[in-house]
Amino acid sequence: MLVLLPVSRTTGREMVITVDDLPAVSVLPLSPSQRDAITSRLLRAFEDHRVPAIGFVNENKVYDSTGAVDPARVGLLRRWLAAGLELGNHTWSHPNLDRTPLPAYEADILRGERIIRPMLQARGDSLRYFRHPFLNTGRSLAVRDSLLRFLAAHGYQVAPVTIDNGDYLFAAAYDRLRSVADSAGARRVRAEYLDYLERVVGYYEGQAGAIVGRPFPQILLLHANRLNADTFDQLALLLERRGYRFIPLNRALGDPAYRLPDRYDGPAGISWLHRWALTRGVPRSVLGGEPQVPGWINQAAAAGAGTSS
Ligand SMILES: [Zn+2]
Repeated sequence: MLVLLPVSRTTGREMVITVDDLPAVSVLPLSPSQRDAITSRLLRAFEDHRVPAIGFVNENKVYDSTGAVDPARVGLLRRWLAAGLELGNHTWSHPNLDRTPLPAYEADILRGERIIRPMLQARGDSLRYFRHPFLNTGRSLAVRDSLLRFLAAHGYQVAPVTIDNGDYLFAAAYDRLRSVADSAGARRVRAEYLDYLERVVGYYEGQAGAIVGRPFPQILLLHANRLNADTFDQLALLLERRGYRFIPLNRALGDPAYRLPDRYDGPAGISWLHRWALTRGVPRSVLGGEPQVPGWINQAAAAGAGTSS
């Protein structure tokens, strides 16, 4: 059957799905049932599409407003593991490395593994991946490399992102529209989000050709929000139609592309594709054309205070 499809559909594209800000994130307060729904819908879609996803945890999101561990939220993390998925460390409180002294940042990383490290060890697994909040990796090579040594000493490998995007902006708009029962607006956000993500994926496929010289296993950044819970099934179908299958992070990182030199120390939390390109001196014009989040989404997202990344 496959031989009848165009070549572009049979090239065996591969993608890792990474989900940040577990157990769940929103610009608005989340109820226990909303957290549960986000988790249930994501895990069901991952199972349906055989997605070996990895979730990156902010352990401060596991505590309730009194400062006590919420067993229900710990239970949500256990469900990720029970579904055969992996968990990684995304710090305790989501600090920005560019605004946080390195010792405090490193303490936040260790505080962020108190629950998940034993949870993984009890299963015979190990905690092996770290994702920088905001993808900020340090404003000097000294800070950047010092943190990399700290991470290695604690058994962590950095989880890069090659397909960066504004999912959190769409999610903020979505949560706000849903909170005022604007179902038509929420439907429009879902449709525009999927259209946007398909254009983003197409853009980074082009960047892979221009920067790596070939397709390679891409790593997509998403967040554990209601929008992704409600749309991941459709996103997976869309990606499958483009020829993708989903692979675990460790397999993607085995690709030589992930050993390209990276000496990026700029202010923007950007795709690793662009870090490799800037390190090599690729003209910035090559990096242009990244799809933009529509203005009305930005406005709807900013209708209150706070964003997440
Ligand atoms: Zn995050």
